[in-house]
Amino acid sequence: MSLYPSGTVTDPSIPFASLVDAWNARVAANPDGVALRYFDGVLTAAEVDEQSDALAVGLSEKGVRRGDRVGIYLQNIPQYAISMVALWKIGAAALLLNPMYRGAELRHLVDDAGTVGVICSDRSAEETADTLRGSSVRWLITTSDLDFQNRSDPRVFADPVRATSRVGEDLVNVVARHRGARPPRPDVSGDDTAIVAYTSGTTGTPKASLNTHANVLAVATTFGDFVGTADGDVVFAIAPLFHITGAVINAVVALIRDCTLVFANRFHPEVTLEMFVEHRVTFTIGSITVFNALYRVPDASPEHFASVKALYSGGAPIPPATVRKFEERFGHYIHNAFGMTETSSGVIAVPPGARAPVDPASGSLSIGIPLPLLDARVVSADGEPVLAGTAGELTLAGPQIIAGYLGRPEDTAKTFPCGRLHTGDVAIMDEHGWVYLVDRLKDQINVSGYKVWPREVEGVLHEHPAVYEAGVTGEPDDYQGERVVAYVSLNPGAHVSESELVAFVGDRLAAYKRPRQVHVVDSIPKTLTGKIRRTELRGRAGATM
Ligand code: AMP
Repeated sequence: MSLYPSGTVTDPSIPFASLVDAWNARVAANPDGVALRYFDGVLTAAEVDEQSDALAVGLSEKGVRRGDRVGIYLQNIPQYAISMVALWKIGAAALLLNPMYRGAELRHLVDDAGTVGVICSDRSAEETADTLRGSSVRWLITTSDLDFQNRSDPRVFADPVRATSRVGEDLVNVVARHRGARPPRPDVSGDDTAIVAYTSGTTGTPKASLNTHANVLAVATTFGDFVGTADGDVVFAIAPLFHITGAVINAVVALIRDCTLVFANRFHPEVTLEMFVEHRVTFTIGSITVFNALYRVPDASPEHFASVKALYSGGAPIPPATVRKFEERFGHYIHNAFGMTETSSGVIAVPPGARAPVDPASGSLSIGIPLPLLDARVVSADGEPVLAGTAGELTLAGPQIIAGYLGRPEDTAKTFPCGRLHTGDVAIMDEHGWVYLVDRLKDQINVSGYKVWPREVEGVLHEHPAVYEAGVTGEPDDYQGERVVAYVSLNPGAHVSESELVAFVGDRLAAYKRPRQVHVVDSIPKTLTGKIRRTELRGRAGATM
């Protein structure tokens, strides 16, 4: 494709069978290279290798076997990478768990995935143990986000004193106990599952996407090469690793090359800017919200981005004005990238140095061009490819695309007819190969790249005694891309204020799922079969109160 950066190999072969082989090659090539940084903490590739070996031995002792799923329920800290590498070495899969999840939200995913154990923060260990009592989880390993650094920046660490957890064994102790030991080394293949990440699809039921070693390697290789990642680069893990983008095109891209992966715990704009300067960051990908947050820092300047080669944003639409403002102020263009949990993250992206065209009809910024090895086609409702410039459903095939979901053959058959992923996104591909997302088939709400299911929020609203019916939609938001807005009708004679309902939902759902507004309306528009007409609801804010 003529839009590829010069030197792009359009049909690359992936030189490794598994992520373990790729990791081993990296360690062998330069064991003293810095693999991880965490504030003032430094770990070389050899050290990460030794620690992940020791952890893998500890996990094997706990009974973890090839094919098992182990939850990683952590912020962006070095233990995330050490745990992933340890699990991969013994052929087990890392189940990515959002550390914002609590109670039933967490329990549901852990049960659904048949999780054998969880690696969690020592601060949430007791609550986690309570939540997971009676589940398939047999053990917890706890860890402190104060480990692997000495700076304990008060802006990030609210409490610089270690938590005293009474459950589970501390990861650092497990590593110390087995230091120097080598784990059993099953012959991990490309078909083994490396990452299990929960996704959406079109029905609203969270589904466990089985991202194999081959899938993850294909994306980390093609995306890494496409954006020009080279040995010696410094990748800042700005996207959360519990999302496929953070796990694959921040973490794995860096781990399988002689690159440094920088962690800074949860996102903090000022701290992030300082990390860019201190560690001479060359690449990162995050949601557009983080770039908005960096833009809002009054002292942010082009010097903070002096070492950067390319910035990417993925997971949610990017307003063209945001890209323009950011570039005017910092001299860096934010490149768009498209990915899904089912595509093991970024598979369509804007070439570095190129500018994404804007679709004149919708005003949407192109998500880029299909990366090498990806077969992207836009098809009509009957599955036939449409002409360039015509809207249809985006369908994808290639080594990046997962084969299916865990334990859901029907959903797999529906989403991957004839082995092609039907994305549920309506797209246009122009004659040059630029792809534009013009609409969504699905009702999913995208808050800063976090996906919210209207039905889940509606379900919680329905629990309130005053609520008769509820409908939830996503509405455009300058800062987060979209915000969750709820509409409810009330039972006869019932009274409840908007703020009471916001607080009610707030106690029951992760912060990003909470509606910013709840509007009381006379009735919720529905189809004859009882489906809520969300498009009719949108923009009704301020209707009958
Ligand atoms: P997830 O599997 O949670 O990562 O969500 C994937 C969905 O996010 C896609 O099907 C798109 O609807 C949306 N998405 C991902 N990247 C972009 C992007 N660059 N622009 C607009 N929407 C995006």
